Amino acid sequence: MAAISPPVPENRAAAVLIGQMDVEFAKCECCGLTEECTGAYIEGIRRRFDGKWICGLCSEAVQDEILKSHEIITTEEAIAKHMNFRKKFAAAIGPPPDPTPHLITAMRQILRRSLDSPRALRSSPATPSTAADNQIRRRALA
Ligand SMILES: [Zn+2]
Repeated sequence: MAAISPPVPENRAAAVLIGQMDVEFAKCECCGLTEECTGAYIEGIRRRFDGKWICGLCSEAVQDEILKSHEIITTEEAIAKHMNFRKKFAAAIGPPPDPTPHLITAMRQILRRSLDSPRALRSSPATPSTAADNQIRRRALA
């Protein structure tokens, strides 16, 4: 009888790749920003922040809270601190007049996406050269 081998890492890698195909909307629990993310990415963030999903900008702020705190605080406490800070900040300046933080997040998102999937770079409208390429290919197939 052959021993049943445990799942090989390659299969797990494939499963992760397939998991990355689904794109979902995740809403930041701190600032309410909605980001389009892969399931795997959402899962990773939730694992890191006690089941909460928070955007890139807020996650950095939360990490900052942990670093600058004199006592050892939990991730949850750091998130609460950051939320309080946001509320105070919002109250002090009134309705958010400045979309810059979201712009930064959006830009990061684009950067990360172009690093993650080269497909995003190729999704731009066809340039004359690629259209010509397609014609050549079609002619070759005909
Ligand atoms: Zn946020």
